[in-house]
Amino acid sequence: AKSAGRGCYRFFTKAMQQESDFRIRLSNDLHQALHSKQFTVHYQPIVELNTGHIHKAEALLRWQHPELGAVSPAIFIPIAEDNGTIHEIGNWVFTQAVNQAAHIQSLIGRDFQITVNKSPIQFKGHDEIIHNWITLLNDINLPAKNVVVEITEGILMDVVGDIPDKLLAFREAGIKIAIDDFGTGYSSLSYLKKFDVDYLKIDQSFTRHLSLNAPEFALCEAIVVMAHRLNIKVIAEGVETELQRELLKLIGCDYGQGYLFSKPVPAAELEILLQKDL
Ligand code: C2E
Ligand code: CA
Ligand code: CA
Ligand code: CA
Repeated sequence: AKSAGRGCYRFFTKAMQQESDFRIRLSNDLHQALHSKQFTVHYQPIVELNTGHIHKAEALLRWQHPELGAVSPAIFIPIAEDNGTIHEIGNWVFTQAVNQAAHIQSLIGRDFQITVNKSPIQFKGHDEIIHNWITLLNDINLPAKNVVVEITEGILMDVVGDIPDKLLAFREAGIKIAIDDFGTGYSSLSYLKKFDVDYLKIDQSFTRHLSLNAPEFALCEAIVVMAHRLNIKVIAEGVETELQRELLKLIGCDYGQGYLFSKPVPAAELEILLQKDL
């Protein structure tokens, strides 16, 4: 048993070593990725459940590594947060996304909102970020209300730090705020009354198990009722089936996003989808 235990130990150390080598490599390579044009932004439509119309899309970063191929943002974003490259990368995504939104708006001639993910770390220090963003929006003539910043619940819990102040500055500028992955992680709801958020995004882990008898159904319904009482719109993530769509409509959920409607697609494909939706 002892030697088996040791064998096990060796096995895990090797796997852990490989894992850590991989992370170090990605961390090094992230420094070149932006300048070597390895990033693109894809867009996933957000569909109004009542009408089926698309007035919004989420910007999602894609990294095509020259040797490793596509690397998931779920893997490299935390590494970019650790090594600080998230600031430059995040500003690049924002610039791409809002320019795309301005272009789409002129193309389809109706209101269109773009949502952009923000890492909590992008709010630390870097006081110029809000000013720069507002200047950019003015330059490209995109109203601030057409931009939604997606943040996770954790960021709002940092009440002693300067993050909430920055969020308030976003709000004052007219930028909208969405709480991402709602229902996971932090369970305190007190921030909902402290911060005037515009959207809640129900996490995919709830949507995935939606059925008439599942506890997730009751939870989603409760989230929608609570949100509407607080004047907040609800977006369900990870909608993959007709049944999920129907149940979400039934409980009055405002928007759906997921493979049932569309995967995240390149800008040109989004434009085609939106023009069909006229
Ligand atoms: P997220 O913000 O929760 O984004 C939703 C994720 O769910 C995306 O994964 C999307 O492709 C995926 N998804 C959409 N519809 C479905 C569906 O029907 N079923 C399933 N199973 N998945 C679906 P993705 O693009 O791999 O991104 C993963 C995470 O990486 C994102 O989670 C977000 O936290 C982070 N991320 C992506 N782009 C950015 C970025 O520009 N900045 C920051 N800070 N984080 C980003
Ligand atoms: Ca998101
Ligand atoms: Ca999410
Ligand atoms: Ca997530």
